[in-house]
Amino acid sequence: MYADRIKHLPPYLFAAIDQTKQKARSRGLDVIDLSVGDPDMPTPLHIVEALKKAADNPENHQYPSYAGKLAFRTAMADWYKDTFGVNLDPEREVLTLIGSKEGLAHAPLAFINPGDLALVPDPAYTVYKTSVIFAGGMPVTMPLLKTNGFLPDLDAIDPEVARKAKMIFLNYPNNPTGALADRKFFGKLVDFAKDYRLLVIHDNPYSEVYYDDQKSLSLLMIEEAKDMSVEFHSLSKTYNMTGWRIGAVVGNPEIVAGIGKVKSNIDSGDFGAVQDAGIVALRSPESKGAVNEIRHVYKYRIEILYKCLNDLGLELEKPRATLYLWGWIGGDSVEFCKHLLEDAGVAATPGVGFGKYGEGYVRFSITQPTNRIEKAIERLEKLGSLK
Ligand SMILES: *Cc1c(COP(=O)(O)O)cnc(C)c1O
Repeated sequence: MYADRIKHLPPYLFAAIDQTKQKARSRGLDVIDLSVGDPDMPTPLHIVEALKKAADNPENHQYPSYAGKLAFRTAMADWYKDTFGVNLDPEREVLTLIGSKEGLAHAPLAFINPGDLALVPDPAYTVYKTSVIFAGGMPVTMPLLKTNGFLPDLDAIDPEVARKAKMIFLNYPNNPTGALADRKFFGKLVDFAKDYRLLVIHDNPYSEVYYDDQKSLSLLMIEEAKDMSVEFHSLSKTYNMTGWRIGAVVGNPEIVAGIGKVKSNIDSGDFGAVQDAGIVALRSPESKGAVNEIRHVYKYRIEILYKCLNDLGLELEKPRATLYLWGWIGGDSVEFCKHLLEDAGVAATPGVGFGKYGEGYVRFSITQPTNRIEKAIERLEKLGSLK
């Protein structure tokens, strides 16, 4: 009954985890869920109020525009200028998305012919690999290893493969490893893409979820990056808006146009009221204060959970960005997570769910209320050594 493109997919990791959690809950276990990166705090009030007002506007009740409201795209361009010093033409270099997952999943349809290669990181957000497969392409794995700061070793990629590849996917600050990329790496990436005529897809939903003074970068800050790159950005993690479904792809106008062409044949744009609220999120001075507060809460959670996991013998670094702690356990990550769930009522994500090179790792998310994280810490401490 099913097409090959879905028959050969591994079961979506989070669906499998959900089942295990459900089973534990039905046995009466109080599960503290640190397995999903979905902000627990509500969307800042001024953004919610903007949505309510925008919902009353009949203009928003009709089909939205395919590319998104020019006012939203301009707000995104201005935000990029203000945040990264990057200049974007809102008409040609910004496209509204129904969340960045949607855009990432559709992007390869615009560029990949059957059999084309695409370079994808491992471990990684699973959408990159799946979307290449959906487009009929062949994903080629770039391992992200601790010894290389969880950056792909571009020099280790077979030149033959690089020449054949059409595109490369990257994501920094990185989910699941928490790693950052610096200017030097991004510069090297742009040179590599130029040499091998690759299109670069940089997924950047965590640029504002950082914890030290060093802010995250946009790939588009690198000279010539716009010649072959686009960056996906999302309001989901920055403003606690995962449920709203709004993001954007920005950068190279031809790549943006290609994605737009695919999308105009699939969806009919993002709800106008959500875009109106998105404009308020991006432009309002209140947002800066709200984002700072959110960061402050996350930073505390990272500190306490990092200390706990480190004390219990997990090998990990304190992340400087993202919502995740990525710890080395050395063994079977699915078994380890089962043990945590059954014996401590704490759900974490087995690293292997992000790819073969994630095996031996486990990911803890900090998107539960602080008192629940404190409770999880108490339970983990009772379990004793995690080694
Ligand atoms: C959360 C996340 C996204 C997507 O978010 P949307 O809600 O679809 O905008 C994209 N990439 C990574 C790596 C993420 O963790």
